[in-house]
Amino acid sequence: MDLSHISLTDAAELLRSRSLSAVELTRHFLNRIETTDPTLNAFITVDAAGALAAAEAADLRLAQGQATPLTGIPLAIKDLFCTQGLRTTCASKMLQHFVPPYESTVTRRLKAAGAVVLGKTNMDEFAMGSSNETSFFGPVRNPWDHDRTPGGSSGGSAAATAAGLCLAAIGTDTGGSIRQPAALTGTTGLKPTYGRVSRYGMIAFASSLDQAGPMTRSVADAATLLQAMAGHDPLDSTSIDAPVPDYQSGLTTSMRGMRIGIPAEYFADGLADSVRRGVEQAMETFRSLGAQCLSLSLPSTAYAIPTYYIIAPAEASSNLARYDGIRFGHRCADPQDLQEMYARSRSEGFGAEVKRRIMLGTYVLSSGYYDAYYRKAQKVRRLIADDFQSAFTQVDLLLTPTTPETAFRIGEKNSDPVQMYLSDIFTINVNLAGLPGLSLPCGFDENNLPVGVQLIGRPLQEATLLAAGHAFQQVTDWHLRRPS
Ligand code: GLN
Repeated sequence: MDLSHISLTDAAELLRSRSLSAVELTRHFLNRIETTDPTLNAFITVDAAGALAAAEAADLRLAQGQATPLTGIPLAIKDLFCTQGLRTTCASKMLQHFVPPYESTVTRRLKAAGAVVLGKTNMDEFAMGSSNETSFFGPVRNPWDHDRTPGGSSGGSAAATAAGLCLAAIGTDTGGSIRQPAALTGTTGLKPTYGRVSRYGMIAFASSLDQAGPMTRSVADAATLLQAMAGHDPLDSTSIDAPVPDYQSGLTTSMRGMRIGIPAEYFADGLADSVRRGVEQAMETFRSLGAQCLSLSLPSTAYAIPTYYIIAPAEASSNLARYDGIRFGHRCADPQDLQEMYARSRSEGFGAEVKRRIMLGTYVLSSGYYDAYYRKAQKVRRLIADDFQSAFTQVDLLLTPTTPETAFRIGEKNSDPVQMYLSDIFTINVNLAGLPGLSLPCGFDENNLPVGVQLIGRPLQEATLLAAGHAFQQVTDWHLRRPS
């Protein structure tokens, strides 16, 4: 059996029946990382000792018959979840040597369920980017074509999952960073409803948009991970206090009679033919499963990018003010005075894209411009959310492309930030409205690069998205294809 690409369910079964030990499974992935990752650069830190110790503990638990579906399952974690005692860099020089004194809620819950953390994955610096090229640790290569990006910002998690360097990974999504790399690597990525998963211990980028979610090779695997991650957390005041349904048992809900909305604005000019074809074929598949597809309009769609690029940088400029060279993070050498220490520590510690966002954010929040930019953007954000709300009075789900095109070449969009920002044109509105979104592999283009389709759901309706995605994956095999 090819251990690298088995499902979480199959792996858990092998572990439970004792035909494979957690230590053996963990060793398998550590070896694979050692041979493959020098090319892909998906990991910033590999924690072999920690992973093997967790695997031994998992084997003990398995022997005692106390396993959960995640006991002994090797995972990769985006390097912005604080892991106590294990370096957490956010792919920034600023945090190159930062070892958190505490654990994020997401990783704490996964570890408590018995999961094994193989290491921390590469990403765009502070999650700002769509290609993984802003990382201080260098770009990640797409396993489907090493000259191309895996997308971003959770590019390391996506590449590791697609290449079988872990059984699954965790990412975060502020404007598309789970769904866009999932689409570009042929993996499954779920961004939950804002507040469904705790943000405690996630290094903040834009606090009103950031959300953690699973990046997997199937919807069923995503359901297993979300089960462990979701739920109220008193340590995050924006976490939602609502019961967590049984996602696994909800997977078999029928698509019959399901109403799927197709927003016209997402199929306009600029959509690559290969993506259009893949997504239209996905629509056909949903029809054959008994769903009904209805066209509708989300008129405020065009304002997504400008609205996001005011709100996200505003929040980032405020969140990143904490990196002052004093409490933690990079401090410049031999400053003459306090002012110079602030200025040089920040100039040296942050990369170009992060500085661009800090400047943008500081500008839109400054007195005199606040009303014209920040306040206006908040009003447009409301209009965008209202569009979705009114669509969901007619339909149960929305179906759109995840990205306008397939994976682009490393370096291709580097000189033009706006071109890069447009990669998230179909995902950003979902964050602005706080809704759950799921990207599924739905085809390949003429260069054998994966295409993704996005499903968007009502608040807290992850179960509906997962059921639809699972039904789709029961009758298609796009998610089973692997890069050679
Ligand atoms: N690409 C978007 C940005 O650069 C979204 C990133 C994200 O979701 N973290 O802001």
